[in-house]
Amino acid sequence: MLHSLDLFTLQLASILASTAFGLVFAGLWRGRREDEHLLFWSVSSLLYAADLIAFIVLDPLPLPVGCCLYGILSVSNLLGLSGLRLIEGRKPFALWMAVLVTFTMTAYAAPFVAQAYWPAIPSSCLPISRALGLIISMAVVGTACIRSGRRCASRGGAIAGFATLGYIPGYLVSIAAELGWPMGHDWLALIPMISDQLLLGLLNLGLLAIPIERAQARLREMALRDPLTGCWNRAGYEVLSSRKSSDDGVIIAIDIDHFKQLNDRWGHAAGDDVLIELARVARTLAEPLGGDVARMGGDEFLVLLPKRSELDARSFANQLRRALTKTSENEPWTISLGLARFQVGETDYAAAAQRADVSLYQAKHQGRDRVAA
Ligand code: GH3
Ligand code: MG
Repeated sequence: MLHSLDLFTLQLASILASTAFGLVFAGLWRGRREDEHLLFWSVSSLLYAADLIAFIVLDPLPLPVGCCLYGILSVSNLLGLSGLRLIEGRKPFALWMAVLVTFTMTAYAAPFVAQAYWPAIPSSCLPISRALGLIISMAVVGTACIRSGRRCASRGGAIAGFATLGYIPGYLVSIAAELGWPMGHDWLALIPMISDQLLLGLLNLGLLAIPIERAQARLREMALRDPLTGCWNRAGYEVLSSRKSSDDGVIIAIDIDHFKQLNDRWGHAAGDDVLIELARVARTLAEPLGGDVARMGGDEFLVLLPKRSELDARSFANQLRRALTKTSENEPWTISLGLARFQVGETDYAAAAQRADVSLYQAKHQGRDRVAA
């Protein structure tokens, strides 16, 4: 049999753990004030710790105090989600959050009020209603965290969301006990307290992983993207090439005609603008086809159109030439393109890229401003 001392120790451990996470988030936020989500997560953890202390110190809870403490519990949960929403670029708060806090508080207070009017209401309704309020609150916040994590491609966000949902079985156990499941009171309190240790760790470590995941994604993006045009660079192209998954498809090599002269006449900055414009239009046209654009260096680009026919590729090439003729009306410039189809058994883009290069050379040789295949 476990004694109430064990429960107190567990509560104390939850308070200390939550305070520690709150301090870590606060320390990180002090170093990077622009990362406001860290402040939200810090306040969330510290508020949770303060709420647990209040539950112990103020026991037995008068109705208004209990109601407030349940509201604060719900707020501390929502602040974790608010931080995630900030990362997504959304507003941290929404009206439904106020409704959820009010609901949790009402679920706490309603049976007390009802009992004043109808004393026949069994006293087990009080803890059941309380637990139901928390279950709904955790279900809504946990699901929102998982969806938010998906939107910012973060596993940490999903872990935090599932950890929030992980509180629900503990509350269900307490309802089952109220409904007559034979269980001692110590055991009843022990299950949610033990899961609190585990879930607090999962939730906050999940949140802590998000900035690391984002920094990694940013570094990866910087390593694989051309900073001038935003297209894949040669390293990015190598990654795409190694992931080639389809035997059907076309690769298109593009090179600007007389780009050196263009640079000499208009200056290097204007030359850069031409590269940016070509990349922008090529990406706009390639993306709906599931394609990718890579800048291989200088004025050379490769467009990868996996699972597309030569007809699609010719249509893409002609659309691109037409669009660029329009944008370069005042200071005309043109491009040459070489097409090559993938061949069965090729495991990367290297051979097809070489054939596209040969086609491009033919287009240049035949007088430029044209497509060759
Ligand atoms: P061709 O029609 O045969 O392709 O003639 P070209 O003058 O375009 O010859 P080429 O493709 O070999 O020229 C590439 C030029 O691109 C050389 C270099 O001055 C210019 N260049 C390379 N990188 C950049 C860049 O980042 N910005 C600008 N503005 N120019 C660049
Ligand atoms: Mg060129």
